[in-house]
Amino acid sequence: MTRKVKLTPYMAREILIRPLGRFRVSVPKLRWSAYYRGFYNPKTQTIWMGRKLRSFNNPDTLLHEFAHHLNVMRGGVPYYHHRFPFVVCLIEVASVQYGNAARYNWDAEYSTVERLARPLLNQRFNLDLTCFDKDTP
Ligand SMILES: [Zn+2]
Repeated sequence: MTRKVKLTPYMAREILIRPLGRFRVSVPKLRWSAYYRGFYNPKTQTIWMGRKLRSFNNPDTLLHEFAHHLNVMRGGVPYYHHRFPFVVCLIEVASVQYGNAARYNWDAEYSTVERLARPLLNQRFNLDLTCFDKDTP
């Protein structure tokens, strides 16, 4: 049984420290919502996190929204686009956060995202993807 832990703003920042340090994009604003599970607004660079829903306890929702931020900061497609290159951003974020992107909870993802990500995970492609970042020597 999973222990229910309420995600606080402090914890959210702790979770994002590693991806922010790795990708060196601007720090997104964090807001809490009674309506969204997770939502990213590219115009205001704001991540909205659900206050009441079950995924509120799951840091992967925050990582998903951060991947939208990363995608937009790289000049990517609109935030609601759950295909490439967003999926690559999410794999990179999960790889940085967990050491292995396969540890991300892909079962809870949108089916489109999971379907596109699985073949890359199976090829152990996630570690190589870190080379996509411009700051990598
Ligand atoms: Zn999304």
